Amino acid sequence: MREITRGIMREAYLDNSATTRCFPEAAELMNKIYLEDYGNPSSMHHKGVEAEKYITEARRTLAQILKVREKNILFTSCGTESDNIAIIGGAMANCRKGRHLITTRIEHPAVLEAMKFLESQDFDVTYLPVDEKGIVSPESVEEAVREDTILVSVMHTNNEIGSVQPIEEIGKRIKRKNPSTLFHVDAVQGFGKARIYPAKWGIDLMAVSGHKIHAPKGIGFLYIGDKVKVRNLIFGGGQQNGMRSGTENVAGIAAMGLAAKMLYQDFDREIEKLYGLRELFIKEVGDIPEVQVNGPQGREGAPHIVSLTVPGVRAEVLLHALEDKGVYVSSGSACSSNRPHLSATLDAIRLPRPYMDSTIRISLSGMNTEEDVLQASSALHEVIPFLRKYTRH
Ligand code: PLP
Repeated sequence: MREITRGIMREAYLDNSATTRCFPEAAELMNKIYLEDYGNPSSMHHKGVEAEKYITEARRTLAQILKVREKNILFTSCGTESDNIAIIGGAMANCRKGRHLITTRIEHPAVLEAMKFLESQDFDVTYLPVDEKGIVSPESVEEAVREDTILVSVMHTNNEIGSVQPIEEIGKRIKRKNPSTLFHVDAVQGFGKARIYPAKWGIDLMAVSGHKIHAPKGIGFLYIGDKVKVRNLIFGGGQQNGMRSGTENVAGIAAMGLAAKMLYQDFDREIEKLYGLRELFIKEVGDIPEVQVNGPQGREGAPHIVSLTVPGVRAEVLLHALEDKGVYVSSGSACSSNRPHLSATLDAIRLPRPYMDSTIRISLSGMNTEEDVLQASSALHEVIPFLRKYTRH
């Protein structure tokens, strides 16, 4: 992370799966749009046309990265909204064909809660288990697909342990078993960290969030494949072909397009850098007694997420002790401050109960440096023995 200081303390922000710092270029572009090119893209005058150009350019950039058509990109407010439109809108538009859906036990609440809502509306949802590394078997997905299965939702990268699902293989098997079943992928943690080709991989719907890729909060998009039927959930002035009414967040859209372009321009080098930092961190904390890294190891997993269990220390206490040393991480999953219950992902990989409460997540971005990682590992070396002494008495 660029040298950030709070008072005289150096800060290491290692909570990038919760959210990222905006690229300065993206923030500058937003500033220009807010102050100069602030027209409503639906206006017919010059200011409106200028605003519309930003949207067109972002759409083009995102479509090029995914190798899809520009019309396949629907701008939304966040990953959660994209997941909701895909799952609820997808189920509503296709309920005449059946009422069965499939997902995994380790999805984000944006997916799981949407599924729960559908269950309350008399849809039937199958929740598939994962192995101890957090991977769902493509065979089990294929087996679960029935004639009345209208949608399958599998995340690309898990937000808590960084497991990466075999999406291409899953897509192939779903379509083989039932070509009319829609395949939705929550790629909120995967986009920007992996190359993903929805049209080629049998993905019909795919959710992405701006604030995880150095764009601002309040912007996201949903990929919707050709001929995929999805009911709109927002009604109004008919923007985005009626799929999501409401004046577009032009600044957010432009910033997300720019951020995605920047990430994929230097993609291989960035990913190598992230894996290097992840490996360095795991090596540096490896000699702390009893600590354990959960989920996939090495290059099998995502390059930016480390789930670390520190037996004998409560995650929340550890998080605040690290904060006092200028190191920001999260406990288990970042979205969990609203959800005091135990993590569904850690439960699904069968992490023992006492360990679940002792698990923190360290998540990196390309803005992090070796110095950040070393600061975090030395803080852990310092605080863990101290906290254990008190917890175990
Ligand atoms: N899906 C996953 C895997 C996530 O990690 C998150 C956020 O952490 C979301 C969905 C929700 O995204 P947003 O915060 O943009 O609503």
